Amino acid sequence: MRVLIISDIHANLTALEAVLSAARLYDAVWCLGDIVGYGPDPNECVDVVQSLPNLVYLTGNHDAATLGNINLEAFNRDARISAQWTKSVLGASSIQFLKNAQEKAVLENVTLAHGSPRNPVWEYMLDTYTASINFEYFETEVCFVGHTHQPTIYVESDGPRKAIWKYLAPGEVFKISERTILNPGSVGQPRDHDPRASYALFDTEQRAWRLMRVEYDIAQVQQRIIDNGLPRRHALRLKQGW
Ligand code: ZN
Repeated sequence: MRVLIISDIHANLTALEAVLSAARLYDAVWCLGDIVGYGPDPNECVDVVQSLPNLVYLTGNHDAATLGNINLEAFNRDARISAQWTKSVLGASSIQFLKNAQEKAVLENVTLAHGSPRNPVWEYMLDTYTASINFEYFETEVCFVGHTHQPTIYVESDGPRKAIWKYLAPGEVFKISERTILNPGSVGQPRDHDPRASYALFDTEQRAWRLMRVEYDIAQVQQRIIDNGLPRRHALRLKQGW
């Protein structure tokens, strides 16, 4: 089975559409959370995600904040403004869809979490130290996470460092042969200085992970952010991939 792995769409419909057309053929979609927040198209993104085949989807911290499940004080000022705006425009069917999201899922010998298996909605896995601790919090061979907006691979090791960081260039395939934590990066707001939308394709039989990037019309999304009165910073960072 060929699975499209997407995360952190952040209400960026243009980026989401670019990813779906670039990925072309896939049997299932696993979405690792944060469909909304920051961007101008929350309802449209929920509609598109909802229609994807064999969908498994998780809740992210921005989704939870929009539903009122997280105190907005935990967010910085700009993120709070955009969460409040999202709350004010979300339709009833989008709210229901987000409410049905899972915090964690296990399938095909893979654990899915937005942040980390230890703290699924909140923890950022940004270094090998955090990754090494998290290897103890899932039973499967593999774990997929999002949340940091940076594509990453951590492989479990027996050495003094319990997790090793691996670099993977877009288009390259990583064959999974040991316990591994993988992050597909962000569709709608990449933060690794590459502004292209990020996603991954996972072959469940071959245990192969391919990281992909695709360009999209950033200016169009920036304009919608500004037209809706959302913080300018969220428009600027799209262009910088940060
Ligand atoms: Zn996010």
